[in-house]
Amino acid sequence: MKREYKVPDKEFKWNAKIALDDDAQVQAFFKSKDIERLKKLICELGKRSYSKNFNDGNGGNFSVRVAENIVLCTPTMISKGFMRPSDMCFVDMEGNQIAGSRKRTSEVFAHLEIMKRQPLAKACCHAHPPHATAYALAGKTPPRCVNPESEIFIGQVGLANYGTPGTKQMAEEVGRIGKTHDCVFMVNHGVMTWASDIETAFWKMENVEAHCHTSMLALQLGGFLQFSQEKMKELLSIRESIGFIHQA
Ligand SMILES: [Zn+2]
Repeated sequence: MKREYKVPDKEFKWNAKIALDDDAQVQAFFKSKDIERLKKLICELGKRSYSKNFNDGNGGNFSVRVAENIVLCTPTMISKGFMRPSDMCFVDMEGNQIAGSRKRTSEVFAHLEIMKRQPLAKACCHAHPPHATAYALAGKTPPRCVNPESEIFIGQVGLANYGTPGTKQMAEEVGRIGKTHDCVFMVNHGVMTWASDIETAFWKMENVEAHCHTSMLALQLGGFLQFSQEKMKELLSIRESIGFIHQA
């Protein structure tokens, strides 16, 4: 007998443009079952991220696009390891807060600039994992053709020029690079990853940190054995077959 196996689809599929001028509708959506489930997932991912040392102090933030014109995001000035569902915020696509009692993170502007330019980006994860951030501080991206999984899940890391965190200029720079790269190193700052769902965006954060860490260790052993460009192209076609964006 032929068995059917399912791969879970974690993407939040919205079918509504919420009327932003109808506050009762916005608040009801903010407290709906689907959004409460996402809030809990973000808290869970926050704990995982914090436990892996990706979030120093109150560093890092998460966002999920939940309607054409609404994004659920984490608040400012909170440890990502100790968030509760009631801490989350709703913003419109310009970053104006429309629900939630805590103030939204100012870094959500960078998330929004990616989402506006790249419709496949439905969720973003920003963090400061030490080894990937070390590359970002050095203005470098990790090596290619050394790690098959990182070719599939990350591909070429994009490099966004330095700008003051939370500013419009920085957000636009991250959006410009994030349109064509699902992992962006923000020079002198940290890492941004995006995907169709928040868990996959977080996996990419784990993938790129592991890749940067092991690359540094390999350098201490004398360097990398690299596979061919031809072999890399096979990996890039796997990458596209599982729904990640095309990369040259
Ligand atoms: Zn940051």
